[in-house]
Amino acid sequence: MQLVRQTEESARRRKNQARAAAAVITVVAIASGCAVGGESDTVEPAHGQQPLQAPPARALDSYAQRLGAAQAARVAAAKRWGLAKTPLAAPPAPAVKPRLTTRKGFEVKGQSSLPPVFTTIPTKEKVVFLTIDDGAEKDPALLRMMSDLKLPYTAFLSDYLVKEDYAYFGKMQSRGITLNNHTLNHRYLPGLSYEAQRREICGMQDVITKHYGKRPELFRPPYGNYNQDSLRAAKSCGIKAVPLWASEAFADHMEWREWDRDLHPGDIILTHFRGRADWKGTMPDMVRKVMKTVTDKGYAVARLEDYL
Ligand SMILES: [Zn+2]
Repeated sequence: MQLVRQTEESARRRKNQARAAAAVITVVAIASGCAVGGESDTVEPAHGQQPLQAPPARALDSYAQRLGAAQAARVAAAKRWGLAKTPLAAPPAPAVKPRLTTRKGFEVKGQSSLPPVFTTIPTKEKVVFLTIDDGAEKDPALLRMMSDLKLPYTAFLSDYLVKEDYAYFGKMQSRGITLNNHTLNHRYLPGLSYEAQRREICGMQDVITKHYGKRPELFRPPYGNYNQDSLRAAKSCGIKAVPLWASEAFADHMEWREWDRDLHPGDIILTHFRGRADWKGTMPDMVRKVMKTVTDKGYAVARLEDYL
């Protein structure tokens, strides 16, 4: 308990330091109107004296420079991709991962021994998580855009769509995106027997392992529909958690699960690999739309895997 508190305390200190550094760099950038220069202020200690202050100040300084450079890159990328505002930077990954529990009303019989089902990650940070499902649209611009903007997301893939082009999702993975399980054929799982559900879920575990070398830990049932057999089957083939979603992004609007039609800290946002055939827009249009909502409401997009 004591250890947990200390870790939280030091995480808070690090974050405050980062905020202070960011504030410093903003002032410097405004004052000079240009990028920050190289090393400076090397304090030569008088003979026999220890240089008590200089090293930490320098360390903070170069950290601030890196933050400043990262922010400048985000501003430029946001302009390039036509975003209304620059996305906010996510806070550091939590030192202590939140304990995940199944959302009230989403439990099945025997839930406590099955993977948790949730729509929001418990956190006080103003972060949300982006998840993209299915795999129909394979737009190379999406890969470039998300890398350029440094926006993390998690993919939930269904083999009947992915198998048209396994290489596209390989490129996605090589850009740091985790590929997770959305079944082989996107069936309505509660209509299937335990064995048939197991083939759908465990079969997709095998496909992802074979093509991408990594066995998923996350599973999302098609349409968000599942029963006890789905969770039992998922657990039996190595699934640790079942993230659903609190809101859904489209190319031209948002849809909300909650009555307040708003974002909340830790909300998981669902969207799909879709294009003009299904949507009033492209994948980049969807990113512009969802990021306008997220940034206007003061949220940053964080990496789901950092919180699990
Ligand atoms: Zn789906």
